Amino acid sequence: MGKTKQTIVIVGYGGMGSYHAKLIKDNEYLEVTGTYDILEDRRKVSSEDGYPAYDSYEQVLQDAAVDVILIATPNDVHKELALQAFTAGKHVICEKPVTLSVSDFKEMVSAADAARRVLMVHQNRRWDEDFLTIKQMYNEKTIGDLFRIESRVHGANGIPGDWRHLEQYGGGMLLDWGVHLLDQILFMVDSKIVSLSSRLSFILGDEVDDGFESVLQFENGVSALIEVGTTNFITLPRWYVKGTEGTGIIEDWSLNGRVVTRNQDAVIVEPKPIQAGVGLTKTMAPPSEEATITGALPEPYRQSSSFFDNFAAVIRGEAEPIVKNEEVLRVLNLIEAVFESARTGDTLKDFDIYPA
Ligand code: NAD
Repeated sequence: MGKTKQTIVIVGYGGMGSYHAKLIKDNEYLEVTGTYDILEDRRKVSSEDGYPAYDSYEQVLQDAAVDVILIATPNDVHKELALQAFTAGKHVICEKPVTLSVSDFKEMVSAADAARRVLMVHQNRRWDEDFLTIKQMYNEKTIGDLFRIESRVHGANGIPGDWRHLEQYGGGMLLDWGVHLLDQILFMVDSKIVSLSSRLSFILGDEVDDGFESVLQFENGVSALIEVGTTNFITLPRWYVKGTEGTGIIEDWSLNGRVVTRNQDAVIVEPKPIQAGVGLTKTMAPPSEEATITGALPEPYRQSSSFFDNFAAVIRGEAEPIVKNEEVLRVLNLIEAVFESARTGDTLKDFDIYPA
């Protein structure tokens, strides 16, 4: 019987590399046939997990039976590993951030094109249900037109691991969670960014950021606050969104949350003043019970295809990639602008993440 599955070798069998092996295990079209890691103990773990480890990257490249290389190493070596893979005629799945600069990414795309191989970046958080719920609310106007989107991830464990603390490896939280949250907002809001203001935080004294905040103003009127924190012992909700007809909140990844909308049928009554601190306020008094309707979050969109099924269809020439390289380029352009805004303290106005 002829070969039915495309073969994948995972390069970098650490936290994410070994998780990929689990994700691909039951895939109909793809099969992990081996791994390579620079560390012997990780190669040993891989063999114990049932994935034979190659002794060198050269061996992987020279093995004609390997169709795809999945790069799950620290960020600084993604580019070199991918360029070598394309020269050897392999397709590449690359972890995020695909690489550390726009110019490096352009080199990778050119090499993929020249070799006529696929390069697809694992922006897996496009499949997160919390994100898909907000995207649904944005598109379907569940609470009217969203004009404010706050997307946060908060932890209290500092920067994890070893290489994530160091600049030379592409460490820091902007290049970690930041890549996901910026990818999500650009995937959802299809409009030009007209201004950007960003701050990185260095609370823990590392040479790289342990978190950041960015405020993006889009041409279509949406403003977005993107925030990553690793020193938050009390966390704020994952999403807080305001629309012209109501407000929505998603507390966590379990999709605890609600939407509160204006009750169109309610007779508008002047709110009664409440005691607030040592003063009185009508402005900040909660709306009367009849004035609002509290409801459940909408059912999130389902993506028609998983990342790996889509990738497999792309290399068969049967589908467009869900994660497109021009979208990845926009995110990298935006990340460079975030670094620039944080470095200078300026609000950037004249920049373009959609260059020709
Ligand atoms: P990790 O430190 O747990 O694993 C990295 C592994 O790569 C280590 O075993 C290391 O020995 C190996 N390695 C380093 N240089 C190598 C080289 N030149 N050749 C072969 N192996 C090499 O790191 P991690 O948390 O698994 O992160 C790996 C990548 O995955 C990063 O790019 C990270 O951003 C990404 N990641 C993505 C997600 C996601 O949800 N998409 C989640 C976590 C990590």
